[in-house]
Amino acid sequence: MIIVMEINCPEEQVDAVVGKLEQHGLQAHLIRGVKRIVIGAVGDKGSIQTMGIEGMPGVMSVVPIMKPFKLVSREARGENSVVRVGNVDIGGRQIALMAGPCAVETADQMYAAAEAVKSSGAGILRGGAFKPRTSPYSFQGLEEEGLKMMSEAAKKFGLATVTEVIDLQSLDKALKYVDMVQIGARNMQNFRLLQAVGRAGCPVLLKRGLSATVEEWLMAAEYIASEGNAGIVLCERGIRTFEGYTRNTLDLSAVPLVKSLSHLPVVVDPSHATGIRALVGPMSLAAVAAGADGLLVEVHPDPQRALCDGKQSLSPGEFSRVAEELKAVAAAVGRAA
Ligand code: PEP
Ligand code: MN
Repeated sequence: MIIVMEINCPEEQVDAVVGKLEQHGLQAHLIRGVKRIVIGAVGDKGSIQTMGIEGMPGVMSVVPIMKPFKLVSREARGENSVVRVGNVDIGGRQIALMAGPCAVETADQMYAAAEAVKSSGAGILRGGAFKPRTSPYSFQGLEEEGLKMMSEAAKKFGLATVTEVIDLQSLDKALKYVDMVQIGARNMQNFRLLQAVGRAGCPVLLKRGLSATVEEWLMAAEYIASEGNAGIVLCERGIRTFEGYTRNTLDLSAVPLVKSLSHLPVVVDPSHATGIRALVGPMSLAAVAAGADGLLVEVHPDPQRALCDGKQSLSPGEFSRVAEELKAVAAAVGRAA
């Protein structure tokens, strides 16, 4: 259920409704729009109907939400949400560029990556310090040392940072160094981890699971939102199909679909979606044309020597060309890049 309050209704009336919901054992989540406040009430539907919320002062209407995801649904909030990461907004007119290597390797590598992505207009530096690798014998990441390297490089160039967390320990460490945490495809349904990032309250980049439906993805976002964290950005990164030429199949239709179902910003990761460097540029342009609010792109100062995902990583020069080409596409769909 969402409770739509009257425009400019006093805070006491909002508090009274919240109090009543909580008294009946329901969770109340305030969603503040530009003009009005709506209250998302989560819990037993039956009790909401009988507790007399509809007649309370300041209440304009009580609307049931039919979808299984509630707080993240379009019904709960008509306006697009904008998530602020450091000094970068994701979900506004400007296309947000997040870029950097798959894995943090050395301080020099992060410095070179930060310099390159900044000069091409990226606002957020990415880099993995806890790598969820398919093989236990592959490079697993530099952990806290890596986080330090990334945060130092980002500071030098005025960039915000995002890194993947894989469990509660890595979350605790990441929160000391980065502006946004990423839940990777493999952990999209790690519900305890989702709840923990929800409680942490930091911006979250939630990747779509390898074989997750759109509804499962939005339910994962709901786990984070239900802990009181509204700072969620969804990331389409390709799904598993029968196609073997690309690493995954980029589901671009998910971008406008999810934006119709949810108020959350949606970004696209063309690197993991394709696994092929030459496809990253075209898919970046297509993603922005389809309405994506940003891109997450793997960029390495020397892709041939990358310890992880070199084949899909752009060189600084390639990234700069893609960033330049994005400008015309963004303008064509009423955005800026
Ligand atoms: C990554 O971003 O480095 C990563 C491992 O991505 P995904 O979870 O989408 O595979
Ligand atoms: Mn990678």
